[in-house]
Amino acid sequence: MQDAGADWLHLDVMDGHFVPNLTFGPALIKALRPHCRLPFDVHLMIAPADPYLAAFAEAGADHILVHPESGPHLHRSLQSIRALGCRPGVVLNPATPIDALAWVIDLIDVVLVMGVNPGFGGQHFLTGQLPKISALRAMIGATGRPIRLAVDGGVSAETTPDIVAAGADVLIAGSAVFGRPDYAAAVAALRAAAR
Ligand code: ZN
Repeated sequence: MQDAGADWLHLDVMDGHFVPNLTFGPALIKALRPHCRLPFDVHLMIAPADPYLAAFAEAGADHILVHPESGPHLHRSLQSIRALGCRPGVVLNPATPIDALAWVIDLIDVVLVMGVNPGFGGQHFLTGQLPKISALRAMIGATGRPIRLAVDGGVSAETTPDIVAAGADVLIAGSAVFGRPDYAAAVAALRAAAR
């Protein structure tokens, strides 16, 4: 992906319990680390997450993103991620209100809005999330900190203009890139759509 022009490599970790799908854990990320220079943006869809944070940090994660629902103590999870030397982030499911961030926003470097319910690729973007992205952009602006606002799920060249207009500055693409024969052309198409 670094040769295709991506800025980050987003890794979806699923446990078959927090989400209805199973992917991989820290061992795969560790094996991948020497082969890629891009920052590893590790999205944990696991519950609990806390017992595994150190393993993901040691595996080479640069950012570790958790869902508030992974529980039980989001604030503690974010403190732990920072203490491990990684950038902490919070992921909001379609039904999760932005208020979940109200008392932790000073602890985080990334906010990730799910454009679909987590678990599977290839789903359509939920346009009802656009006002949430706008509201988060305002919330981030009020902090004065350079928190990245990412969208994950349903990102394509078709949905990107609305997502960027709403205030997102990071686009996480799955099938819009990996479902295409030419990854570099797919990344370029997303960048063009974001302008
Ligand atoms: Zn993800």
